[in-house]
Amino acid sequence: MSSATDDRTTAASTASLGHFLFAEEHEQLRRTVRQFVAREVDPHADEWEEAGRVPKSLYLRGGALGFFSHCVSEEYGGIGGDCRMAIVLAEEFALARTSGLGMAFGAHSEIAMPHLTRFGTDALKRRWLPDLVAGRKVAALGITEPGAGSNVSAMATVARRTADGWSLTGSKIFITNATQADLFFIAAKTDPGAGHRGISMFLVPRESPGFTIEEMKGKLGRRASDTGLLTFDNLPLTADALLGQENRGFYQIMQCFENERLTIAAGCIGAAVAALERTVRYTQERPFGIGHLSDMQVTKQRLAKSYMELEAARQLVYTTAWRVIHGMPSLKEVAMAKAFASEAAFRIIDDCLQLHGGYGYFSEYLIERAYRDIRLDRIGGGATEVMYDIIAKQLRI
Ligand SMILES: Cc1cc2nc3c(=O)[nH]c(=O)nc-3n(C[C@H](O)[C@H](O)[C@H](O)COP(=O)(O)OP(=O)(O)OC[C@H]3O[C@@H](n4cnc5c(N)ncnc54)[C@H](O)[C@@H]3O)c2cc1C
Repeated sequence: MSSATDDRTTAASTASLGHFLFAEEHEQLRRTVRQFVAREVDPHADEWEEAGRVPKSLYLRGGALGFFSHCVSEEYGGIGGDCRMAIVLAEEFALARTSGLGMAFGAHSEIAMPHLTRFGTDALKRRWLPDLVAGRKVAALGITEPGAGSNVSAMATVARRTADGWSLTGSKIFITNATQADLFFIAAKTDPGAGHRGISMFLVPRESPGFTIEEMKGKLGRRASDTGLLTFDNLPLTADALLGQENRGFYQIMQCFENERLTIAAGCIGAAVAALERTVRYTQERPFGIGHLSDMQVTKQRLAKSYMELEAARQLVYTTAWRVIHGMPSLKEVAMAKAFASEAAFRIIDDCLQLHGGYGYFSEYLIERAYRDIRLDRIGGGATEVMYDIIAKQLRI
């Protein structure tokens, strides 16, 4: 019977190899990630889950392997590319024995960095991007606040103009990479009376005076990903810390959500693939009656239904990626992909745990971790209900 220890082989045989969306360079990236995960991540996964973070040196390795260089042009240290690279990375990271990898790298390069590549001035890009691409510096994005999660425009953090630039006061909660990041992308009100039309984005270096970072412990899942509470107490920022246009931050955030949500959806595909492959193996090895659990028709049907849902989610994510690559408006489709993939992955992994019976309830089996981990995707990056709101609004219903 497979256990968490002997379950180390990558659960990847039915991943997306050969899909028409991907070219040879993407398949090459897949192979590189698989090797990296097998050699440098999986052997340490349990230790990092226990530690509550991945080591900072892992970002350097990620940088050296080119995992942060897509969507950054060559002049700033990247290689250029489109969201296919991000999809491959998210899928493959999700096949690792710890979701801390995908969270750490995803928050850095898919959630935070796009704000700089899309909206930074040439000077800001030259100053930060080469280090971020190389993994010498780590990035985090701070939007959520204790009083403003789904409703971004309710944020209370304020940046007030000073003679030299800005003064930042407020707090951010649930921030991924908080304890390791060198550079924070922070949303704040610059016109507090103007609702979502009064938000701007700022670059905040970790060593800024008036900046406190507290680690948040006790998460249900994603335990090898560090999460923190940020507090800014009259934190001084120079004028060039403003990222993009003053009072246009909300729209910038919405544009960057496209990449974040598509990447989350792709990660859900990887997580479901991993859970299903492990579960198929488990049912084939679990004695039941005169045969194995896998011999029962109900098991076959349950797994068949899950693979069907996985395939539907995958096609929705890939078709949406194709739209994004071709510059088509995709707000509705991205919301659909994120909501559908996260809800499908949750159902699939729940079914996989059911097939493990009582063993699935124990940490010796990776399905226990997968079940805890996948719960975040229906909440983070915009809850499913928020995605439904976007879809309804776009459909004008
Ligand atoms: C582990 C973790 C890591 C995170 N990392 C980051 C990060 O790096 N940076 C960052 O800025 N944020 C981060 N977040 C925050 C995350 O994006 C928010 O938790 C999420 O947006 C939901 O906000 P909230 O928690 O305030 O829930 P609320 O906004 O209070 O919503 C609670 C629930 O209400 C329901 N709901 C909300 N809106 C609607 C609606 N319109 N219609 C119907 N129902 C609705 C949903 O079920 C939702 O789950 C992280 C969160 C977690 C748990």
